[in-house]
Amino acid sequence: MTYTIEGKTGAWEIVVGLEVHAQIISHSKLFSGASASYGGEPNTHVSLVDAGFPGMLPVLNQECVAQAIRTGLGLRARINLESRFDRKNYFYADLPTGYQISQFTHPIVGEGTVEIELGDGTVRHIGITRLHMEQDAGKSMHDQDPARSFIDLNRAGVALMEIVSEPDIRCPEEAGAYLRKLRQILRYLGTCDGNMEEGSMRADVNVSVRKAGEPFRTRCEIKNVNSIRYVMHSIEVEATRQIEVWEDGGEVDQETRLFDPSRNETRSLRSKEDAHDYRYFPDPDLLPLVVEQEWVDALERGLPELPDDKRDRFVKEYGIPRYDASVLVAEQAIADYYEEVAKGRDARLAANWVTGDLFGALNRTGRTITDSPISAAALGGMLDLVSDKTINGKIAKEVFEDMLETGDSAAAIVERKGLKQVTDTGAIDAAVADVMARNADKVEEYRGGKDRLFGFFVGQVMKAMAGKANPAMVNEALKKVL
Ligand code: ADP
Ligand code: MG
Repeated sequence: MTYTIEGKTGAWEIVVGLEVHAQIISHSKLFSGASASYGGEPNTHVSLVDAGFPGMLPVLNQECVAQAIRTGLGLRARINLESRFDRKNYFYADLPTGYQISQFTHPIVGEGTVEIELGDGTVRHIGITRLHMEQDAGKSMHDQDPARSFIDLNRAGVALMEIVSEPDIRCPEEAGAYLRKLRQILRYLGTCDGNMEEGSMRADVNVSVRKAGEPFRTRCEIKNVNSIRYVMHSIEVEATRQIEVWEDGGEVDQETRLFDPSRNETRSLRSKEDAHDYRYFPDPDLLPLVVEQEWVDALERGLPELPDDKRDRFVKEYGIPRYDASVLVAEQAIADYYEEVAKGRDARLAANWVTGDLFGALNRTGRTITDSPISAAALGGMLDLVSDKTINGKIAKEVFEDMLETGDSAAAIVERKGLKQVTDTGAIDAAVADVMARNADKVEEYRGGKDRLFGFFVGQVMKAMAGKANPAMVNEALKKVL
């Protein structure tokens, strides 16, 4: 079903294309040896190249190129063996060179695709137009002094990938799913940490609206949105604004806007500049970038298993539902943890414990899988006790809570608390007889046809045996006498 917004003149469709800036994980910057790490005292990660000193020459960082190619491969995109660097001219106080080195006409990566899955299970493919490398700018600081502004050039020259999508996105949910998927792929590849709070991934959101079946109308670009929630929200707000403009007989102007979440509106920043306003020209300091197919092939062989492939393998190999598999591959570390628990055990049971009790416990204690208080080996050890019927499922919950608290192994806890499952038929038969004697009236009712009382008897026997009886044997014993 198509997502639409209802206006005075009927239903409107939304059209969205995203430009994502993702900071490349590398030790040093795109064209200099200065550190690319986050933070640091202002202006401590700056070389003369980054500061735009006359006569300095940029030297391309090979690792950044490898990262861009890995990303292109992860997006199932075409790798361009020849690409070029251009100068994009701006005047900004935090851009000392007066231009940004970017790839305009010949990006390193061409068309690709990202598969997304929506809440109702619909699968869609969002086209990637291109991915190119470019430099980040420095940062102006206006809040340090009442009269003066300062410049921090630590970011200047840090390598970014700009990943441009086709205008294939049709609603806020798809935009959210696309960004989450993109971030997941980048993290798996180790090419960007996807940390939107620190600005290492941010999105420009292009929005237009149209009536069904119409060609695209004019778009507006919302700059630098720094959370997935804000991206989704800004699309809705901006589409609603454009619908009003069109319906009031106006025209949407192509412009760059800012999203203000506190006032729930977008505001005009500047009218949209065109490519020719930047006076792009090939950077005379840099030769065309030519990479060998063999190198691309080697990078491809070194790629990790990607999330979609891992999900499909989990479904096949472990026989778990697709939804559970998607949850388990959300992060590489979760997937690794799960596999360690599931290997050689009841894989469905393992999936239930990881996505249920373990995730619940991590949430409660504010931890992540990497500092889980229960290791994969320890959880596996507990599942072994369930499988060999040392404990039943109910006691397992108690053991799990104890493991969380004490860090003891499941076996030690079972021993310490005497939680071993009772499989002694004599003890179970005695408890059954006792429960029947104390509930003679219910026994009558049951025998008179009130079948659903069976659960009541099971509950009473389990209670009498402190939850430790083997449930199958209790059922068996009750069936025999009832
Ligand atoms: P520019 O370089 O000026 O930003 P591009 O043609 O590269 O322009 O497009 C930028 C983004 O805008 C892309 O993500 C593209 O999908 C998106 N886009 C293009 N046309 C539309 C439209 N009519 N509505 C919404 N998004 C659009
Ligand atoms: Mg743009």
